[in-house]
Amino acid sequence: MKILVINAGSSSLKYQLFDMDTGEVIAKGLCEKIGIDGAITHKRPGREDYHAEVTFRDHDDAIALVLKLLTDKDLGVISDLSEIDAIGNRVAHGGEKLRRSMLVGDEEIQYLYSIVGINPLHGPPAIKGIEACRRQMPGKPLACVFDTSYYATLPDYAYIYPLPYEYYEKYLIRRYGFHGTSHRYVTGRVSELCGRPLEELKVITCHLGNGSSITATKYGKAVDTSMGFTPQEGLPMGTRSGSVDPTVIPYIARMEGLTPDETDKMLNGKSGLLGISGVSSDCREVRAAAEAGNDRARLALDVLVYDIKKLIGSYIAAMNGVDVLVFTAGIGENDRDLRRRVCAEMDFFGIAIDEAVNENAPRGKEVDISAPGSRVRTFVIPTDEEYMIALDTMKLVTK
Ligand code: ADP
Repeated sequence: MKILVINAGSSSLKYQLFDMDTGEVIAKGLCEKIGIDGAITHKRPGREDYHAEVTFRDHDDAIALVLKLLTDKDLGVISDLSEIDAIGNRVAHGGEKLRRSMLVGDEEIQYLYSIVGINPLHGPPAIKGIEACRRQMPGKPLACVFDTSYYATLPDYAYIYPLPYEYYEKYLIRRYGFHGTSHRYVTGRVSELCGRPLEELKVITCHLGNGSSITATKYGKAVDTSMGFTPQEGLPMGTRSGSVDPTVIPYIARMEGLTPDETDKMLNGKSGLLGISGVSSDCREVRAAAEAGNDRARLALDVLVYDIKKLIGSYIAAMNGVDVLVFTAGIGENDRDLRRRVCAEMDFFGIAIDEAVNENAPRGKEVDISAPGSRVRTFVIPTDEEYMIALDTMKLVTK
């Protein structure tokens, strides 16, 4: 069975074609600058990459070219589109109604339109990607896998904000949580790596990338997560502030004369690692600057490490313990020093890592970095959201 996974952003579209019999990616690529001008990079394992500057008026143009390349005589990997059994779309937000991966049709797409207001950044491009797939491959089973659906199990006291309750009723203001597909994937791997069912485990997963979130999963169910109504809450990220005293925000807006949209841009685009360090949103560049003596870069990393520790501690309290701690995504998988610092002086919780194993953990591999005898097992697990989407899609079409 072959599954095409699509992840559409506002001006980009990523794709991966999986052969589910082997679990391998047989082609993948990236369409960029959609609606601006356009470029495509098309990759096939073991063969030379193909790159072209093209014109993408919209997501339909991008999907059309992807399908053409996949079936191209020289650059393709399949001879006909009928070889693709189904399409899996990544969708950030499923709102309060779409709470599991599902095959979608008109009704679900209408619902996605209706919640664009609470998901203005990621909603419209995801819908464009879905609509483009429907037009270019009519009748092909089309699944959506929502970042939010992993959090359908959150208890109400973990998702209701202490604001007037009417805003939850009127505007659906609550914690939704994001990155759920990544947290679900690595949590699933934990069970495999520990040889124990998830129903026996308390797991804390740290997805640390450009966007970062931490999730607590107790006995197989997500019970809390750091991102909230939007992917803005929780940890400081590349350019996003994460949590701050809410009153600071209108105060800055008044002092600087910012509109609500400008305030959003400041919180989303100028804060986090970039905001504190003034150097970069990229953790590697912030680290390099800190090592070269830049004190604000040092401070940005210190804030990040401190906030990760505090969240881990709070989830240990929420679950009355933890059995497994996981690091994943760009920073979590690669930044050894950050992992070392997060896990330092956590022996009260039973968390201790083997510094040599952590230091030498090979990139892109699943590694148990726990110190011998530590009560909590700590893993580095590369995330694979696309594979998770392909798996969900396969399950839906073979049901
Ligand atoms: P996204 O959230 O966009 O998917 P990624 O998961 O790719 O992002 O993570 C990007 C982050 O990972 C960047 O801050 C980058 O600096 C960081 N990163 C990647 N490799 C390393 C590394 N070797 N050391 C430290 N940080 C790294």
